[in-house]
Amino acid sequence: MELQSVDTRLQAVRARMAEFPKKTAEIEARVSGAKAELDAAKAAQLATVKDRKKYELDVEQHKDRVRKYKDQTSQVKTNEAYKALQHEVEMAEAEIAKAEDRLLEQMVNGEEYDRRIKASDKLLKEVEEVARGLRSKLDSEKSEAEKELAQLTEERARVAAEIPENMLDHYDRIMHKHDNIALAEVRDEKCGACGMRIRPHVMQEMRRSTSEEMFHCETCTRILYYGEPTAAASIAAAAPKSNIAGHDS
Ligand SMILES: [Zn+2]
Repeated sequence: MELQSVDTRLQAVRARMAEFPKKTAEIEARVSGAKAELDAAKAAQLATVKDRKKYELDVEQHKDRVRKYKDQTSQVKTNEAYKALQHEVEMAEAEIAKAEDRLLEQMVNGEEYDRRIKASDKLLKEVEEVARGLRSKLDSEKSEAEKELAQLTEERARVAAEIPENMLDHYDRIMHKHDNIALAEVRDEKCGACGMRIRPHVMQEMRRSTSEEMFHCETCTRILYYGEPTAAASIAAAAPKSNIAGHDS
């Protein structure tokens, strides 16, 4: 029972340790998510700047065209040629207006992306700050768990050394087969682990038995123990019942 108590605590520590990689991944995912948001805002801003340059260039080119057509206007001889140039000028001016609209749109977008960059940057800093705290908390939890694991491993070796080898082998086999729980307390004439009823004659034998024989649950094969709490039970805080009722398997 003392061994089972140690094993139960060992299992709890191992379960805690198994959670650490997931917790670390969650922290890092939050940080990289915030970084990705900032990167996206910066990329959008960069694209806006590029577009803005393109539209500025468009405006300049169309203005050049207008100047060129206006220069030509002074040299034309016919009314038709004059009209044709006039038409070209109007087209170029329409293009200028369009490019200027786009330019304005990109400038508004640029302001929006500036705000997004600032907000994302602020958020990233906050997330990083929280992550630093969580990482250091996790680190101390880790070292605490490792310390506990080392202590319990030592304790298990000490407890196991007091148990006859064949009995220990038997216990270990059942433990590994059944989720680290090799013992089951008899309660209301039922196996405390799987709940199956224990046959009356087995109950009788268990009650009578004072030796170190072992009884097993016929269904889950765990080692049954049965009895009143005794002074010896102080060893097992987790399961304060004693007297292994016995019957060899
Ligand atoms: Zn059982």
